[in-house]
Amino acid sequence: MSSFKALGLAAPILQALDGEGYTTPTPIQAGAIPHLMEGKDLLGLAQTGTGKTAAFALPILHYLLEHPRKAAPRSARVLVLAPTRELVAQIGDNFAAYARHMKFSHAVIFGGVGQNRQVEAMKRGVDVMVAAPGRLLDLVGQGHIDLSTLEIVVLDEADRMLDMGFVHDIRRIVARLPEKRQTLLFSATMPSSIRELAHSLLKDPETVQVTPESSTVDRIRQAVLFVDSTQKKEALMMLVNSDRVVRAVVFTLMKHEANKVAEYLSKNGIPAAAIHGNKSQGARERAMQGFRDGSVRVLVATDIAARGIDVDEVSHVFNYDLPNVPEAYVHRIGRTARAGRDGWAVSLCDAEQRAWLRDIEKRIGKAVPVITDHPYHSADAQNSTLPPPVLGGGRGGRGGRNGGGGRAGGGRGRSSQQSGSRSAGAGQGGARNRRRRFS
Ligand code: AMP
Repeated sequence: MSSFKALGLAAPILQALDGEGYTTPTPIQAGAIPHLMEGKDLLGLAQTGTGKTAAFALPILHYLLEHPRKAAPRSARVLVLAPTRELVAQIGDNFAAYARHMKFSHAVIFGGVGQNRQVEAMKRGVDVMVAAPGRLLDLVGQGHIDLSTLEIVVLDEADRMLDMGFVHDIRRIVARLPEKRQTLLFSATMPSSIRELAHSLLKDPETVQVTPESSTVDRIRQAVLFVDSTQKKEALMMLVNSDRVVRAVVFTLMKHEANKVAEYLSKNGIPAAAIHGNKSQGARERAMQGFRDGSVRVLVATDIAARGIDVDEVSHVFNYDLPNVPEAYVHRIGRTARAGRDGWAVSLCDAEQRAWLRDIEKRIGKAVPVITDHPYHSADAQNSTLPPPVLGGGRGGRGGRNGGGGRAGGGRGRSSQQSGSRSAGAGQGGARNRRRRFS
């Protein structure tokens, strides 16, 4: 399908898409919209960055236009469930943007903030309610929201909702849904738990799958700069200072490091902000808003915090620290090159993190091109056979130990004492905890 008009979407929606600058439906949109406009249930296998939000939002808005009706008090006509408050807010914003030329009301429901405004927003009923499962159940339990009159239900990022332990909440919500409804389930992956959930929720669904993330990854131009660990900040500054860096996300492993890097960049005249789990909701929202409107050029984030970042035109991703889990590398660099755009992913790699780069290269199936003509290029780091760092240096807490240094390169069994906070000697032959995440 070559155009949104050919998909049969109503004029006010086409006008909004024009305003957004969307000319061509993405594959998930071209695949899903016709089924959804026929009222079919849908299983969509697609991840963030594929245009999946519009794939469900546009036909839902079309449906609302075609079937005008007032929502009942404390109810919505459409429910979109999403795992995090960032994603909930984002989906709400997308709906509002696509509905800007039509009469439309929506509410966003998520925890971490007071409930009064959300209760108030739902009082008279809305067309679309976008909600995180926990807070939604709270408000349903208190009698502020009634789910029995919903017409369309969307579960977005269902695999992430299950990963985050929402399975019981989802079951409780589902138990309150009306039997007659249209149901959509989107998931990036298809483990058996999702298969079962889909089977129990969807009636005679159509399945639309878009090409896996490798195709996006292929469009990202990747490079690595080997650096001395003591010169990382300066090297990053120099990279970020290029005119070509319009909007950048910088990744660190640790929250305190994210703060330090953001402060360093700000002090040196680059508008930067940090987002991570220790920041308040307000601070995170301000940082995200600044990033969207361009007043913050660089967002410094930890892996978990970055999951909610969905901003177009991220021209560059910089890995200030490489991730210790190869999968995280793929997620990180996927923040750039979205919706058909090009993007750069540049990693700083010091001697300690050299082993992680090898694991990443195995995961992506190719070597990351090396930048050698750079003042901060370090041949020592490039040739390092050091074992990877032991994160957290034996301190307690979530970012604590990871169970030993493991082996790298030639398989030496001990790690030397390293500089600064990312350090600690490792035991011999201890298993490396490859799965540990840091937020
Ligand atoms: P999503 O997968 O929903 O997170 O979408 C990724 C980004 O792609 C969104 O921020 C949209 O602004 C953008 N987008 C969605 N559909 C299109 C389209 N058809 N053309 C251009 N950009 C799009």
